[in-house]
Amino acid sequence: MKSIRLRDGKERSLLRRHPWVFQGSVDKGGADSGETVRVQAHDGRFLAWGAYSPRSMIRVRAWSFDEAERIDEAFFAQRIQAAVALRQRLPISSDGVRLVHGEADGVPGLIADRYADTLSVQFLSAGAERWREAIVAALLEATGITRLYERSDSGVRGLEGLAERTGWVRGEGATEIVIREHEWQLGLDVAQGHKTGFYLDQRDNRQHFAQWVRRLGCERVLNCYSYTGGFSVAARAGGAKQVVSVDSSAPALQQARANLARNGFGDQQAQFVDADVNQTLRDNLKAGQQYDAIVLDPPKFAPSASHADRAARAYKDINRLALKLLAPGGLLFTFSCSGGVGAELFHKIVAGAGLDAGVNAAIVQRLEAACDHPTTIEFPEGEYLKGLALIKLAAQGPAPAAPAG
Ligand code: SAH
Repeated sequence: MKSIRLRDGKERSLLRRHPWVFQGSVDKGGADSGETVRVQAHDGRFLAWGAYSPRSMIRVRAWSFDEAERIDEAFFAQRIQAAVALRQRLPISSDGVRLVHGEADGVPGLIADRYADTLSVQFLSAGAERWREAIVAALLEATGITRLYERSDSGVRGLEGLAERTGWVRGEGATEIVIREHEWQLGLDVAQGHKTGFYLDQRDNRQHFAQWVRRLGCERVLNCYSYTGGFSVAARAGGAKQVVSVDSSAPALQQARANLARNGFGDQQAQFVDADVNQTLRDNLKAGQQYDAIVLDPPKFAPSASHADRAARAYKDINRLALKLLAPGGLLFTFSCSGGVGAELFHKIVAGAGLDAGVNAAIVQRLEAACDHPTTIEFPEGEYLKGLALIKLAAQGPAPAAPAG
């Protein structure tokens, strides 16, 4: 077994069971891509078993902090079984479920989603790639599912020195699948869709949205970055009369149209706009349009903390426009899925947007990813999705001028 020795003092994060070892922390040692290594402190003490990744900034991802544990097929079977068993205890009102959420489930680099009778899986690290066959076998065994589609086409594989790979690993047939989420039927495509096919993390927020729309009696809804129209279906289910879905992906909008129809909402009151959201918001403002509810669920503007500044401006801009566009008393569901923008910073950005727009708003709910996307106390970096539900308050006076000097 190969060993990796850390620089003096660099053992601290592993001792807190944080699963990553950065390149700069390594003093000595190396191994092949994905090979299991013994990580030891500068004085030789055992710290963890982990997967080595020679090209990645994250040089080792820990599999286990228990020296007696063996990293073999049985190890992956046990971890995956535990992750699946946890989901069976969670309140998930869907047959679309995230079964394995990487580090939070003790399998760094592995994402496994179940969509009805199909698994859609991403191997995102050298270690997950190395154990791919064992992981596939364990997933099939733990779920009893026989169809498994691989979506290892995420850009992060490049950082690990891995090529993209997609396609059926087990089973075959249509890649279009319909899941049940709450009382809705939602179609997705595991081959063509984003990520593994769908944004399961917004499941609960879509239901919250339906409830708020009904409670507030919102009639005109603008769903920005709609993807396949999950929030649009929710809006109509909540009683909205008119729903406009905006996205820059034509296939996503096509699926959104099908999803509204699937749920009995495929009428004239559903509109689809293939355009840039920022531009659409500006056009709507210019046209004097107003909405009773708006969803802003943009893609990741800040992949890491180093992009936070530019991302902050982009978030502020769309939130400012949306707050202006809302009718008084209207509802804004606004999100950021950037790991580099924390909940506190996001709140500040939205506050800045409100100031610029001359709009005050009440935070009526804080929103996060559904519970099958857990964050563990040992790995807070896993937290990425945060959102605010806001109600636009009556007009305020202009913000006081900053003091001179
Ligand atoms: N709310 C969705 C998920 C949104 S994902 C759901 O519940 O499923 C983000 C979406 O933003 C993607 O569909 C992507 O195509 C779209 N997108 C990215 N940049 C965009 C832009 N500038 N204007 C419009 N849509 C954009």
